[in-house]
Amino acid sequence: MRANETPATRLATRKLRAASQRATAARVAVLATLIEQGEHSSAEEVLARSQARLPELTRSTVYRTLERLRDLRIVSETDLGGGVRHFEVIEAVPHHHLVCTGCGAIIELADQSIEPLRREIERAHGFQPAIDHLAVFGRCAHCQ
Ligand SMILES: [Zn+2]
Ligand SMILES: [Zn+2]
Repeated sequence: MRANETPATRLATRKLRAASQRATAARVAVLATLIEQGEHSSAEEVLARSQARLPELTRSTVYRTLERLRDLRIVSETDLGGGVRHFEVIEAVPHHHLVCTGCGAIIELADQSIEPLRREIERAHGFQPAIDHLAVFGRCAHCQ
């Protein structure tokens, strides 16, 4: 039964099938929550919103599902400061963030700034880095 089908749940189902994953109710609920959110969500926010969608979801199921989606590179996991894990759907063109440790400002960093780093890591180490969503900590112009 598909009680609450929405554009977000349909997109979530498509993304799971594209990754050769079964579109279980739990996975669809968690991924649709992130798709609707459209920006970083802490694991706790995802938990609350996913449970609103599918009340039988347990905390451990939501956390396990987030980790699986991360391992599949459907979503990114980033610490944006304070040790809080944030999750976000990975878009076709990734983006990154500069995080000020003085005032907490978060500045978006275009993927093209990261591309030379990717190439250099691959050249120097024969290693393909999965830089899907990078947080660089430092000091913003005002806090220096
Ligand atoms: Zn982001
Ligand atoms: Zn600052």
